[in-house]
Amino acid sequence: MDSSLFRKIPQVNDLILKPHIALLEGAWLREEIVEALRTALDDVRDGLRTGAGLPDFDGPGFAAHIEDLMAAKRQPGLRRIINATGIVIHTNLGRSPLAPAALEAIQETAAGYTNIEMTLATGQRGSRYDHVRDLICELTGAEDAIVVNNCAAAVTLALATFAKNKEVVVSRGELIEIGGSFRVPDIIAQNGATLREVGTTNKTHLSDYENAISDDTAVLLKTHTSNYRIVGFTACPERTALAKLANENQLVFLEDLGSGTLIDLSAYGIGDEPTVQHCISTGVHLVTFSGDKLLGGPQCGIMAGKKNLIAKLRKNPLLRAMRIDKLSLAALEATLRLYKTPFEPEEEIPTLRMLTAMPEELEAVAQEIAAILDKLPHVTAVAAPTVSEAGGGSLPTHQLASFCVRLSVASLSPDTLMARLREGAIPLIARISKGDVILDVRTLLPEDVEDLAGLIGAIEAS
Ligand SMILES: *Cc1c(COP(=O)(O)O)cnc(C)c1O
Repeated sequence: MDSSLFRKIPQVNDLILKPHIALLEGAWLREEIVEALRTALDDVRDGLRTGAGLPDFDGPGFAAHIEDLMAAKRQPGLRRIINATGIVIHTNLGRSPLAPAALEAIQETAAGYTNIEMTLATGQRGSRYDHVRDLICELTGAEDAIVVNNCAAAVTLALATFAKNKEVVVSRGELIEIGGSFRVPDIIAQNGATLREVGTTNKTHLSDYENAISDDTAVLLKTHTSNYRIVGFTACPERTALAKLANENQLVFLEDLGSGTLIDLSAYGIGDEPTVQHCISTGVHLVTFSGDKLLGGPQCGIMAGKKNLIAKLRKNPLLRAMRIDKLSLAALEATLRLYKTPFEPEEEIPTLRMLTAMPEELEAVAQEIAAILDKLPHVTAVAAPTVSEAGGGSLPTHQLASFCVRLSVASLSPDTLMARLREGAIPLIARISKGDVILDVRTLLPEDVEDLAGLIGAIEAS
C-alpha cells in the first residue's frame, strides 16, 4: 500500500468545483452530490488499501460514477423485477402477480375513501369481512368465512381460539415446516396448545387418531404437505373419516391447506392439490389457505368453514392484530369475482394462466424472444425446452414442461451475466441450467417481453 496516494485524494469541497462535477448541479441537489462524493471517496480509500489505484478525479468517468451513485440512492427499495426463473409462485419475488381487475379495485378504493367498515344501506358501522364473505362461501361451499393478513396468521388465530391449554392431534407425516419460521410443532406450542403426534412418517391410521383422543383434545389438525410429498408405502385416513371422528368427540377438524386452489388443477394434468371446496364438502370444519398462492390474489389468509367456529374467531381479540388492510381486501374481492361466470379464471388470473400455459404456446414465445435477442451484438440466444416449478409451497413434486431462451453475452461467465441482469434498469432474475443462463418464458408477462431486448442490449460486453 502506497500511503502517499492517500494524500492525493482531494477534499469534497475541492471536488465539487471540478467542471464535470459542477455540471451535475443542474439535475441534482447539492446535498446529494456531497453525499455521493463522500461515499465515492470512502470507496477510493478502501480501494487503495487493497492495492487499487486512484481514479481520474477530473475526468468525466468519475462524474458519471457520482451520478450513478445518486441515481441508485433515488431508486425505490421495492421495485418491479422480471421473473424469468419459471417459478410461478416465487415467495422471494412477491408470489402472485395480480390480475388487472384486482389492480383497478385497489386504485378505485385506495386512492380515496371507501366503505370498508360501513354498511351503506343503513349508514351504520359494518364489518370489513362482509365484503368477501358471500363470495368465499359461494365459491367454497363454506357456511361462513373471514380473512386475515396471511395463512400463518389464520392458523395462529385458529389454534389460539380453539386449542389454548388443550391438545392438538397431528399425524407425524404432516408435521410440516413452510419456509421462514412457520413450523407446525412451534406454532402449536406458541399458542399455548400441546401437540399430540400420532402415527408414523409414512402411515397414520384412523385408530391412531382415535387412540390419541382424550378429555384434553380440542383439535384434529390436518396440514397440507405443500412443499414435499410422502410417496410409496403410505396411508392416511380420508377426510370424511376424520370428520366423523371429530363430530363424535366434539372436536374441531381444522385443515391448514396453505396453497388453497379453487380450481381442480389435475384437470390440466397438474398435480393432485385438493380444492378448498373438496375439503369443505368432505367434512372439514375449518380450512385455512393463502390468498397469494394458487388462488392468485393478494397476500392474505382465508378461513372458511362452520358458522359457529367463524363466530368464535370473530370474537377473538387477536383478530384485530391480524386484520387485512383495505388494499388487500379490494384486490381479494376482485380476484374472487374472476372465479365466477362470465370469467375464466385460467385466462384472467396471471398465476393460473402461467401454471396452465401449454408447452406449445411457451415454445412460440421462446422462439420469438430468441429471434429478437439473437440479433443484438455480442448476444447468442436460442429457444430450448426446460422444466418449471409451481413454487410457493405448492405442487412440490410436479414439474411443468416449459420453454426457455438460453442466453450468453460475449465472454461473460453465467454468474457474471446473472449479476448484470440483476443490476439492469429493470432487474431480471434468471436461472442457470446445465451451465447456461436461461430465461424461462412461463413466468414472463407481456410487458416483460417488450423490455427484454432493451435490458439485454444494455449489458456491456466487456
Ligand atoms: C404457505 C403455507 C402457509 C403459510 O402461508 P402464508 O400465507 O405465507 O402465511 C401455511 N401452511 C401451509 C400448509 C402453507 O402451504
